[in-house]
Amino acid sequence: MRASLLHSPAKIETNPLDFTDVPDPVPQGDQVLVRVGVCGVCRTDLHVVDGELPAPKVPIIPGHEIVGRIDRIGVGVEGIATARTARRGRRLHRRRRRIGGRR
Ligand SMILES: [Zn+2]
Repeated sequence: MRASLLHSPAKIETNPLDFTDVPDPVPQGDQVLVRVGVCGVCRTDLHVVDGELPAPKVPIIPGHEIVGRIDRIGVGVEGIATARTARRGRRLHRRRRRIGGRR
């Protein structure tokens, strides 16, 4: 995936963000992977980039106000489905209803 990666905080005027390819994360345990549709940038992100917050964990991809779709889920996730899994579930449900002779 493409991302703006911060390796080391520095004033934004020095272009500290590295727009680059990074491996797609793999959700573990109770995590979900959200495919980001849009992402806002708030003042907190700028504080992280500028180094105005103590010891950010780097490298980091700034941006925590997102809207997206759940793309993958960890093995421990319950009660949440990806869009693909939800569509497959609805098809199976319809097929079972037809096999059972009920509409
Ligand atoms: Zn924020």
